[in-house]
Amino acid sequence: MLIEDYDIEFGTPDCQHPSCDELFAKVAVKADITELLPYVNAVIRKGEFTTDVPVLVWVHGGHKYALRPHEVAVSSLDGREKGLEEVRRTIEWLNDIWDRRDELTPDHSAREKPRILDVYKLLPRTNCKECGLPSCMGFAGELVAGNKSLEDCAPLLEEMNDEARRKLLEMGL
Ligand code: SF4
Repeated sequence: MLIEDYDIEFGTPDCQHPSCDELFAKVAVKADITELLPYVNAVIRKGEFTTDVPVLVWVHGGHKYALRPHEVAVSSLDGREKGLEEVRRTIEWLNDIWDRRDELTPDHSAREKPRILDVYKLLPRTNCKECGLPSCMGFAGELVAGNKSLEDCAPLLEEMNDEARRKLLEMGL
């Protein structure tokens, strides 16, 4: 088993909007899981894989996942109890992939990043600055660069923007 010792820390996105009530979990992993990343990438069929950092990011079932050498992160968790379940399920799934690595072909390739203009078109486009950036176009650029997350745009979390948010998640954002 690769991931045995770990500590889970829950947090909330850095925003004051009432819609920002979802949790994210950061799991500090004692073992170095760098070698696991290409095997996970093979199973999920190309996430956002930056091999020089390294970090592997993908979206599944409404959650965004990120793997780094000593960290597993899961976002959009619906409360602590369900979040804990999701984290444990994810760790179990990652350990299973590691145990089956001899049957898998590691994949070091990456899915192409979405275009900033395509991301911008799905944002509320009000330039309200709640995300801390002067415009939605600026936010789109930071999203694609991985410096901001969808939760940082409070208006995007409103129900009327569910469809746009779903499409952005499918882009791997
Ligand atoms: S919070 Fe959202 S809507 Fe407001 S400026 Fe930032 S990206 Fe645009």
